[in-house]
Amino acid sequence: MPKAEPATPSATPAHDPFRQLLDEVGAFVYTTDLLGRYTYANRLVLDLLGHPLDYVVGKDISHFFGEKGNEALRENDERVLRRGETIAREESNLIMATGELRTYWSLKKPLRDPAGNIVGLLGISHDITEKKRLEDRVRKQKELLDTVLDNVDALVYMKDANRRFIYANQHVADALGHPLERIIGSLDTEVLPRALADRFWALDQKIFASGQRHTSEEALVDGSGRERHYWSVVVPLPGPDGTPAVIGLSTDITELHELKEELKRQASTDGLTGLANRRSFCARAAHEFERSRRHGAPLSLIAIDIDHFKRLNDSFGHPLGDRVLREFAACCQRMLRDGDLCARTGGEEFCVLLPDTDLDGALPIAERIRALTGALCLDDQSPQLRISASFGVAGLAPGDQSFDALFARADRALYSAKEQGRDRIYSWRECA
Ligand code: GH3
Ligand code: MG
Ligand code: MG
Repeated sequence: MPKAEPATPSATPAHDPFRQLLDEVGAFVYTTDLLGRYTYANRLVLDLLGHPLDYVVGKDISHFFGEKGNEALRENDERVLRRGETIAREESNLIMATGELRTYWSLKKPLRDPAGNIVGLLGISHDITEKKRLEDRVRKQKELLDTVLDNVDALVYMKDANRRFIYANQHVADALGHPLERIIGSLDTEVLPRALADRFWALDQKIFASGQRHTSEEALVDGSGRERHYWSVVVPLPGPDGTPAVIGLSTDITELHELKEELKRQASTDGLTGLANRRSFCARAAHEFERSRRHGAPLSLIAIDIDHFKRLNDSFGHPLGDRVLREFAACCQRMLRDGDLCARTGGEEFCVLLPDTDLDGALPIAERIRALTGALCLDDQSPQLRISASFGVAGLAPGDQSFDALFARADRALYSAKEQGRDRIYSWRECA
């Protein structure tokens, strides 16, 4: 019995498992002949084109896709069909049925007959339109975020729980004097001075432990060696991979800080002479009084008043009086050691506070100031112009309850010096 001939596979068998497989493969699968006309298209392609296979076969892409992008498609197909190349690249189709431009990742290979001649093309395309849109959105958001973060007037950084920088904006790079590539991925100890890195690390650990944000003022020496001040807000936040991290925003407040320091200095300084003013003198004196009491250390005070200053003003004018006050202040300042404090406590009244110095130690200092005062050359035009001052000196006594007690004694001694004829020194010992 002759063997039955196997049935020739028809072009569209009712139950072709391979065709079913191609329909389910989740990609666009198609073949064309040498002229680019479809010879096969799977279900996904047919759904996209909106026509059955019988209609599609024999027609080229110009029947289904808008002209936009077709030139590139044809060029790709030509390379496969004419040069036998295999290409794998991104392609775009303007779908005429829907008017939509879609993007694909396509793999195209030549189809060959048993003799090796190219007879057509096999294409497999994956629709990556949504992925591209998503990537595009993420890229645009990243650009937006980078623009914001690089233009916001603050250092913005992110660190993980292993002291490593995950993110830093351009301001961080400028402040640390390192390029961003060097900072991101580095440990804080690699880009910051050790002591500062350790201080920040201690703070980060506190934030990790408490889960609470932390605010503080920080100082940092920048790449050019200038000390800059920052107002820092550090917030706990899981890093990109979900592990603990902190994000810090440090606003440069150097100008504000300097202004604050200048205001503080002005509030404690006498504008005319540059000496401490009465307010800061009293604060420092109270502090020194407490310190002396605690350590049983001596403390003394010289109260000074320039003699007949009103007369000087009246005779030579107020501007010269001002100059005298400045010269006298500079003269006192020259006499003093570190830790001593000279202040202008009134119009032509000055005080010198001498920590760790008793009455006997203070008297020669007062004498030196008195002698220098008499020798001051105050006006080149009037070399004969001379001034003098009177001095009251007192030392801390065992019964003193506050600095005021010492101050009152020095003041009384000064009063006695005036009474006795001025240009002289009286000490509380003589007054008592
Ligand atoms: P005595 O020897 O008793 O201390 O006499 P005196 O004239 O120095 O004392 P008095 O208290 O009568 O006068 C102090 C003068 O100091 C009066 C005031 O015009 C002057 N004075 C106070 N502050 C300033 C200042 O900032 N500049 C100048 N040029 N004069 C001042
Ligand atoms: Mg006076
Ligand atoms: Mg006076």
